[in-house]
Amino acid sequence: MVIADMNPVPHEAARNACHLCAPLGAGMAFAGVANTLPYLHGGQGCATYIRRYTISHFREPVDIASSSFGENATVFGGKGNLFKGLNNVIKQYHPAMIGVASTCLAETIGEDVAAQIKEFYLQSDGWCPELIFAPTPSYVGSHYDGFHRAVFATVTALARAGEKKQNINILPNMISPADIRYLREMCSDFSLEATILPDYSETLDGGSWAEYHRIPEGGTLLYDIRRMGQSAATIEFNNFLEPEVSAGNYLAKTFGVTNHRIGIPVGVAAVDEFMKLLEQYSRISIPAKYIKERGRLLDSYVDGHKYVFGKRALVFGDVDFAVSIAAFLAEIGMIPIICTAGKERNLPELIKPHMQKALEFHIFEGTDFVAMGEIADKLKPDIIIGSGKGYPLARRLQVPLIRLNFPIHDRLGGTRLRCLGYGGTQELFDRVVNGLLEKQQDDSSIGHAYL
Ligand code: SF4
Repeated sequence: MVIADMNPVPHEAARNACHLCAPLGAGMAFAGVANTLPYLHGGQGCATYIRRYTISHFREPVDIASSSFGENATVFGGKGNLFKGLNNVIKQYHPAMIGVASTCLAETIGEDVAAQIKEFYLQSDGWCPELIFAPTPSYVGSHYDGFHRAVFATVTALARAGEKKQNINILPNMISPADIRYLREMCSDFSLEATILPDYSETLDGGSWAEYHRIPEGGTLLYDIRRMGQSAATIEFNNFLEPEVSAGNYLAKTFGVTNHRIGIPVGVAAVDEFMKLLEQYSRISIPAKYIKERGRLLDSYVDGHKYVFGKRALVFGDVDFAVSIAAFLAEIGMIPIICTAGKERNLPELIKPHMQKALEFHIFEGTDFVAMGEIADKLKPDIIIGSGKGYPLARRLQVPLIRLNFPIHDRLGGTRLRCLGYGGTQELFDRVVNGLLEKQQDDSSIGHAYL
């Protein structure tokens, strides 16, 4: 096992950032709660950028409200704008919850948004929706931090104690709507009642409408979030989130709900671990359907081994995604070159338990696309796995890009890409093998039709 000892050229600022902004992650998480409108406290431009980014990936209408700071709010404070904005949203959308995330501007001028929201509650005459605040200054975090802060804020504000139930909580991280749907299917096949938070599988990937809905249907019910403190256990698909902002950790400490932190279940070993938990809490043996899926997956590993063994794959994205995919790559005999975006976490030590199957791996933290290019020039990956934003690098290196995760703006169907469970791993494995085969075919002067 080898960890790369070379570092990209040191630099002071991100030159082509790979991570996205924190309120964007928060907006995505809030969009996965039923009848909820994400709201950004700050300037109009942040909401426009985030809406554009989200809409281009999900290909759905996405409303995000904004306090719309002008010069006055920037100099004298944005409380007036916040109150006016919240009143407008309540009047026009009738939401059950408004998820407020702060932008860089609001944080920089020192807005006490939590106190302002409390004041809004007190002065509101009559009914007021749940107002949840997630502090998300983008200069100290990325979309990953914003997403988890929104989940944490929602759970800490709403979860209540009560009589213990048999159901479980699943905090699935930033996975695709198709992966969330598959997750629900798995829980249902185990006859296990699960609260999945957030669940944007319908709100951000629904069917077509005959008439416009202000807030799309779907999402985790507030009723279920309130009961999360009464569940038998929580399963969090993250290994690297700081414990102080982990909702699973909070539920364990406050209500005694056992918390299991596992990575995103991609690859046979990781999915086996997840399946064991579903068996444990449902008291039902793994259904035959999944044993067959697992068997087919292992069979395809054998069939595809000669095409992938020893090949180098550069995987980039937020830390949980990149390390979970890297563990799968190690499982199939590939050499992962892991480039994480966002803040540094001393990963070389932390990821060792996840890389036990790796013949060799390389890890670089806090990378941008320029650093990634420098790493790629030295380590010569055969394939890249990550969001659509990796396309310019893949094009320059003339290697396949396996699009996964968020955002994918240059292809249709980013919401339907899967990697979770045996079924999702199967799809990912086939895409990786076929990407390598296609490259081999394209590079050949003969154009083999039999590989
Ligand atoms: S100013 Fe901050 S919050 Fe607004 S879009 Fe830029 S990074 Fe995001």
